[in-house]
Amino acid sequence: MKKIVIIGGGITGLTAAYSLQKELINQDLPVEIELIEASEHLGGKIRTLRKDGFTIERGPDSFLIRKKSMERLVRDIGIGDKLVTNGTGQSYVLVGDKLHKIPHGSFMGIPLQVRPFLFSGLFSPLGKIRAGFDFVLPKSEVKEDQSLGHFFRRRLGDEMLENLIEPLLSGIYAGDMDDLSLMSTFPNFYEVEQKHGSLIRGLKRTVPKKKSQKKKPSMFYSIKGGLETVVEALEEKLTETSILKGIQVDHIEKKEAGYHVLLSNGEVSRADAIIMATPYYQTAKMLSQYDFVQELQKMKATSVANVALAFDQSAIKKDLDGTGFVISRNSDYRITACTWTHKKWPETAAPPGKALLRCYVGRPHDQEIVDLSDQELEEIVLKDLNKIMKIDAKPLFSVVTRWKKAMPQYSVGHKAMMDRIAESMAEELPGIYLAGASYRGLGLPDCIDQAEAATKEVLAHILE
Ligand code: FAD
Repeated sequence: MKKIVIIGGGITGLTAAYSLQKELINQDLPVEIELIEASEHLGGKIRTLRKDGFTIERGPDSFLIRKKSMERLVRDIGIGDKLVTNGTGQSYVLVGDKLHKIPHGSFMGIPLQVRPFLFSGLFSPLGKIRAGFDFVLPKSEVKEDQSLGHFFRRRLGDEMLENLIEPLLSGIYAGDMDDLSLMSTFPNFYEVEQKHGSLIRGLKRTVPKKKSQKKKPSMFYSIKGGLETVVEALEEKLTETSILKGIQVDHIEKKEAGYHVLLSNGEVSRADAIIMATPYYQTAKMLSQYDFVQELQKMKATSVANVALAFDQSAIKKDLDGTGFVISRNSDYRITACTWTHKKWPETAAPPGKALLRCYVGRPHDQEIVDLSDQELEEIVLKDLNKIMKIDAKPLFSVVTRWKKAMPQYSVGHKAMMDRIAESMAEELPGIYLAGASYRGLGLPDCIDQAEAATKEVLAHILE
């Protein structure tokens, strides 16, 4: 019987196993699936802690509604009734020592309406004039890739980048804007510039207009009980997949027919095809004999940590009218953002009368912070919070989560590198496919898209 091995039991590997299993059953194909996960539990970066009525996300807390694949998966595995949308409200950026409202009418920090930006205290008069250059600057020369920083600085100026766009995008990529690839993150911005010249004018024409509504629409879904509910439901569905936990894949060897997968328990698993849903540095290690795969080692990954703090609502004297804030690099704070989780997820995050704040640390240039002790991290976070929001009460409890090398950085040229590697793999390692956060998008829906694409490729290979 043919066998497909999936390495890595994060959302990418789990989705790949689920969609493969579905296809094999539908097409009545006699093919075995084996999922191998190094740690003792499935889910990878998805980790939910349920404690004293609080739902605390230690990794991702939500996914974009706009990208459809995760919602589809959630409904398909029978937990569509658990989808919840985020509570909306004002969000803020801290610049210097002041919280500024994020101006209305913007897309990822780029103005779609001019007035709210003209009246915003976020930018100096010169910064506003500089941003206006976007209307007259010609489009940039055709380029294969460039950094996000280079692109936005040229079109809108340093202030617009540093005070708004960067703090917002850092929340997604935890990366350095002057290093991150435009074509691997927001290729549509480049296309808009090439087509319309002005980014502002182009986005105004292309971003669908929101109906005039009083309430801002929700942009994110989460799941009642936390995102780990999705992992639990997927695991339950994988009845026809053999799942090995607590076993790492050390190495992969190509054989005359198929591959040998060498496991940390000394055993060898045979495979006709493999989906590698692992971070880039693990993938490179498992295929260390292939020079073209070693190009992955050029990638970097940022470490981050977050501190969730539970309070009695009464401890929050100066309540924020909104769901959280991000912090500009031009401010003297070590936290990078804070989510008012009980307001963002009013149905799920905290029991009545309680508040749950989640603060993030780990800028690309402040990586040492992730290695501080839990107590040191809690102190730093509370000191910053007290300065910003006058919270001086001790939390009921706090939960620190560290994620080492967790945010892969798509540097300039990333997409071209991935295309080169995929091409060489098709030639030298037929039947092995890469999918997941290190490769072609790190949001949960992006991971699911890649898992589903890899499933199709694997099936086509197996049925050749
Ligand atoms: P992972 O989750 O990293 O899974 C890889 C798995 O492979 C792990 O379980 C690992 O143990 C296993 N593995 C590694 N090496 C081996 C080996 N040699 N053998 C066997 N198994 C191995 N995205 C969003 O859309 N929304 C958010 O709100 C959001 N917030 C985030 C917050 C944080 C703190 C982090 C870190 C990420 C966040 N992301 C968010 C991104 C998203 O969570 C991840 O990109 C996604 O979960 C990655 O899934 P994955 O399956 O590709 O990789």
